[in-house]
Amino acid sequence: MDPLVDVFAWDDLGRWDEATDGMPRRPCLAVLGHPVAHSRSPQMHNPALEEARLPGSYVRIDLRPEEFSEAMTVLPQLGFLGANVTIPHKAAAFAAVSTMSETARRCGAVNTLAFTPDGLAGHNTDAPGLKRALLEAFGVELAELRVLILGAGGGAGQAAAVQCAMEGCRRLVLVNRTLGKAERLLAELGDLLPGTDRLVALSTEEGTLAREIGDVDLIINASSVGMKESDPELVPANLWRSNHLVYDMIYAPPRTRLLQEAAAAGASTANGLGMLLWQGALAFEYWFGQPAPLEAMRRGLQ
Ligand code: NAP
Repeated sequence: MDPLVDVFAWDDLGRWDEATDGMPRRPCLAVLGHPVAHSRSPQMHNPALEEARLPGSYVRIDLRPEEFSEAMTVLPQLGFLGANVTIPHKAAAFAAVSTMSETARRCGAVNTLAFTPDGLAGHNTDAPGLKRALLEAFGVELAELRVLILGAGGGAGQAAAVQCAMEGCRRLVLVNRTLGKAERLLAELGDLLPGTDRLVALSTEEGTLAREIGDVDLIINASSVGMKESDPELVPANLWRSNHLVYDMIYAPPRTRLLQEAAAAGASTANGLGMLLWQGALAFEYWFGQPAPLEAMRRGLQ
């Protein structure tokens, strides 16, 4: 098995010595998802483990939803220290942990697990990972900004909204196709952003963006629109301004239509690779209690 190529499955956990036979470094971390073959996490975590001279490797494990709960018992028995969790397991991980960070609680999702002597601990590094990525890309702190999130009702959108609200951003506009989801989020975050009109929830109906986008500094695309070439236009090109900061969480393709059109209008733009890197770096720090070897991780993602 090569951790950068192969994917383990539930059945492999039952015959682990045989399944991992010949691997020079025994797996100690994993990303759990379904599907999970596309995950780039091993590309950054294996160089990080080597650079930090830590034993073990980071692998992909494809688990079906009905296998997730039992895997939480089996993985620590096999010597795993922790795991990352991706679609569709983030809510199941949230339900499975015995302790969690305030950020994870607010996000309603856990993407990083640690198997500790005291039980299963959970964290959400997507939210603070986004903060670090924005600081690196644009040199700005969320507290200084008026922010509009597209796709605020999805998992990534909620993580972005939680981080913005916890940082006390100047204004937060939650935009989602399904308005009810944005409104639920608004109700949950109200205590963090008190004040009239500081926190609003809107649907993507025609006119919303034309009305709002001129009064914000940072626009975050947290929706899945833009991953496919056939996807609809999310923001009309004539709405972009040169003072906008535009962050698209999508990193494949690296330049979405949204980023291309915003850049053509003179806006500052960045894609989601930085968020991927930083959520991984924060997970590494959570597992090992030491700074992540960031440059090794960055090179791994190239
Ligand atoms: P999700 O929970 O399925 O949410 C999808 C979001 O996209 C929802 O808000 C959904 O609106 C919206 N959406 C989908 N199709 C739409 C359309 N045609 N028009 C308008 N809105 C539409 O997915 P997720 O996990 O949050 O992921 C969202 C994106 O973030 C993905 O591209 C993912 O790759 C990216 N992401 C990147 C990172 C990173 O590290 N860079 C981390 C996490 C996620 P409704 O609520 O109305 O359905």
